[in-house]
Amino acid sequence: MALKNVISEVFAIDVFNDAVMAERLPKKVYAALMKTIEDGEELDHEIANVVAHAMKEWALEKGATHYTHWFQPMTGITAEKHDSFISPASNSGQAILEFSGKELIKGEPDASSFPSGGLRATFEARGYTAWDCTSPAFLREDAAGVTLCIPTAFCSYTGEALDKKTPLLRSMEAINTQTVRILKLFGHDDVKKVECSVGPEQEYFLVDREKYLKREDLIFTGRTLFGAMPPKGQELDDHYFGSIKERIAAYMKELNIELWKLGILSKTQHNEVAPAQHEMAPIYGTANIATDHNQLVMETMKKVAKRRGLECLLHEKPFAGVSGSAKHDNWSLVTNTGKNLLEPGKTPNENIQFLLFLSAIIKAVDENAVLLRMSASNPGNDHRLGANEAPPAVISIFLGEQLEDVINQLIETGEARSCKQGGKLNTGVHTLPELKKDATDRNRTSPFAFTGNKFEFRMVASSMSVADANIVLNTIVADALCDMADELEKADNFDIAVHDLIKRTLTNHQRIIFNGNGYSEEWKAEAKRRGLPNTPTMVDAIPSLIDARTVEIFEKFSVFSSKELHSRAEVNYENYSKTINIEAKTMIEMVNKQYIPAVIKAVKGLADSINSIKTAVPSADVSVQSDLLIQCSELLAKAKAAVVNLENIVATAATKAEGKERAIYFKDVAAKAMEELRAPIDELELIIDKSIWPVPTYGDLLFEV
Ligand code: ADP
Ligand code: MG
Repeated sequence: MALKNVISEVFAIDVFNDAVMAERLPKKVYAALMKTIEDGEELDHEIANVVAHAMKEWALEKGATHYTHWFQPMTGITAEKHDSFISPASNSGQAILEFSGKELIKGEPDASSFPSGGLRATFEARGYTAWDCTSPAFLREDAAGVTLCIPTAFCSYTGEALDKKTPLLRSMEAINTQTVRILKLFGHDDVKKVECSVGPEQEYFLVDREKYLKREDLIFTGRTLFGAMPPKGQELDDHYFGSIKERIAAYMKELNIELWKLGILSKTQHNEVAPAQHEMAPIYGTANIATDHNQLVMETMKKVAKRRGLECLLHEKPFAGVSGSAKHDNWSLVTNTGKNLLEPGKTPNENIQFLLFLSAIIKAVDENAVLLRMSASNPGNDHRLGANEAPPAVISIFLGEQLEDVINQLIETGEARSCKQGGKLNTGVHTLPELKKDATDRNRTSPFAFTGNKFEFRMVASSMSVADANIVLNTIVADALCDMADELEKADNFDIAVHDLIKRTLTNHQRIIFNGNGYSEEWKAEAKRRGLPNTPTMVDAIPSLIDARTVEIFEKFSVFSSKELHSRAEVNYENYSKTINIEAKTMIEMVNKQYIPAVIKAVKGLADSINSIKTAVPSADVSVQSDLLIQCSELLAKAKAAVVNLENIVATAATKAEGKERAIYFKDVAAKAMEELRAPIDELELIIDKSIWPVPTYGDLLFEV
């Protein structure tokens, strides 16, 4: 008997997707719903009632007792409030199961406890969730039972977005409109819609859960705030793509099955650079669904880990000294006729349409570099950007040899007559098949790299929603395309005008293109010469959310109002301060309650040893113990002074005005004090008896999974 393949058995069984709707909805209702999903037409209440009924019946058959509007507030994670389908049957004392169109379309969670950045006073608590029919409903099972989850947008009583989905959907409309305008100019009247496709690669760490539970820093902050490097780190490069350990393989298998059930196209899995670090990449999809799916990926990664006695760390830099985690946001534009607009073809020099889109993206990134950096920022990512393994905090674009050559020809002569081809790969082994080479090598150090038929935005923080990055990308590229369409629509001779426009745009923005090593010190200096902004921290990037240019663009395309942008800046400042505050307080607690007591014990052990040896044999050499005792005592005193200093800083921070002022204080003052506290503790870890050390070490966490 042939074994049934697990993928075909489980794929999308928990999703109320197109196939299920086509099967279960009356033809007319299905057609009307598709019009809303595909053409953006308004949804009729009658239609919603029928869909709700079908959705309920489907969910009940699969054991669901509850439904929830599933949304994505500005916390960056998802939120839900569950209601059961129960409803009293009149007079009979029985219950019936109900779910109306109204309940499908609209929910009304109390919004007062979600971050709003001043958009909403606490007494104006009303918030609304609205069904996003473009993202399919799905089932989720946990200890509470099976729940029907309905993806929704979340906004305030006055209509302002309080979430990440609403602006993402708005930005998708913006880029659709502007791209279709450009395509019309090239004669593609058949294209009705353009969507941005997103494939987010997700990096993560897995550690043993028992060890995890012994570390308050991991529990409260998601990263280690202390820890010395073990004798081995990642220097042997033996983990990247290495064979996957049994325990991790079992985890990946279960993760895949859970993701496939949710209709998520989990495709690639491998070990990453750091020990205990891994990656999962799905097949790309429409930005909105890819974003929802990525939230589910992160939740499922955590859930499956717990089940298997592991803990999944999504933090950007859980361990100092080894690589951190990113989320690579692969982005492209795809038409409803199935064409990828970022596909250069074999001879990109002849592909004027491609070159126009390329120059629009180059212009957009150059003009909005800090905003783009902001869209990838959270407090954790500050430990990555600019550090050795990650893209630097300066935004630049990698195009590769072939495109750079085409662009240089265009800038110099106004025409690109040739383009470099990849040629053949010579392995020197005759039995190996002859392989065609890509025209361009890869570059791992670039924050924004062209990778053949898409851009890969590598700065994005691993624990963050990909919505932010794609909202900004869509909107700034829409803006560049809009400028271009305005100009070209007026032109008498389209061919000449488009050539001029490409040449001018590339000339004006070529400073953002950089194909070299983004980690090098030379690049930092060169970037400065070119006038490219270097934005080392998230706090430095936040003002870009509310500068005049950003407000103008986002209002122009109705993605954010000025008020919404200001609220998001506030939320970011608050989030930064709160995060650092929690980290500082966790350090203080660990030092006072765990490390200092442990060191005192160690020091006492040394003193006792010296005393008893001296009593037994007065002439014995106790210099080792004495030296160690002195060394430990000195470090202990340093740690105590540093913890007192940090305590004072935390107290002072609370007196600073909320928002920007407090965030700047934390950035400028707390970070340094935290380093000063960490240093003596890490030194102590290296010299103190392991049996006394109160927490699992890096070696335990990274190599004993
Ligand atoms: P890498 O070698 O860059 O690590 P991966 O295979 O891990 O590549 O991930 C590449 C990601 O890019 C996948 O999620 C893939 O689906 C996605 N991708 C491929 N083509 C496109 C495209 N046209 N638009 C958006 N994403 C894409
Ligand atoms: Mg990858």
